[in-house]
Amino acid sequence: MEPLTEAQRRTLEDLYQRIDERVSPIAGTHAWWPCRKGCDHCCRHLAAPLTITRLEWTYLWEGFQALPPEAQAEIRARVAELEGTQRPYTCPFLDRESGGCRVYAHRPMACRTYGFYVSRGTGNWCHLILGLVEKHGDGDIIWGNQDAMEDTLERLSGSTLSLFEWFATEGC
Ligand code: SF4
Ligand code: SF4
Repeated sequence: MEPLTEAQRRTLEDLYQRIDERVSPIAGTHAWWPCRKGCDHCCRHLAAPLTITRLEWTYLWEGFQALPPEAQAEIRARVAELEGTQRPYTCPFLDRESGGCRVYAHRPMACRTYGFYVSRGTGNWCHLILGLVEKHGDGDIIWGNQDAMEDTLERLSGSTLSLFEWFATEGC
C-alpha cells in the first residue's frame, strides 16, 4: 500500500483536528453528554461495516500496524468472522473487554463525528444523545455539518470501500 504523503497526512490531520475543535466544547460544556470513554454502544451496534475512503484507510492502517501482533491477529479474525453476518455489527477494532477503540488516534471520520454532526434529512443517529437532548434541550449546541465533512473527504480521497474490502484488497 502507498503510504500517506506528508501533504495528505497534514490534510487529514487538519480535518480531524477541526472535528475535534467542534466536538470537544460540546462534550466539555455539557456534563450530561454521554460520549465518554467507556461508552461503546455505537461501536457494538454498527448498522453496516464501516465504509471509509482510501485516505482514512491508509491512516487507520498505520494505527493497526502499530498494534501488537496478537491484537492484529484478533482483529483480522474478527473481520473474517463478520463477513456474511447480519447487522448490528460490532466493530473489529473494539477492545471488547475495556470498551475502548484499539486504533483511537487513527479512527476514521465517522467515528469522530458520530453523535456530534448532523446530516440533512437524517439528523443525528445516536439514540442515547437524542434522548438526552430531548430532556436537556439543544439550544446552545452548534451541531457539525456531516454532509459537508463527507463531501470534503470524498474530494480529497478517491475510492471508498467497506472495511472488509480494504482488508481483502490491501490488508496484508
Ligand atoms: S455516539 Fe452515542 S453510543 Fe457512541 S459514544 Fe457517543 S453517546 Fe455513546
Ligand atoms: S474504529 Fe474504533 S471508534 Fe470506530 S467503530 Fe471501531 S472501535 Fe468504534
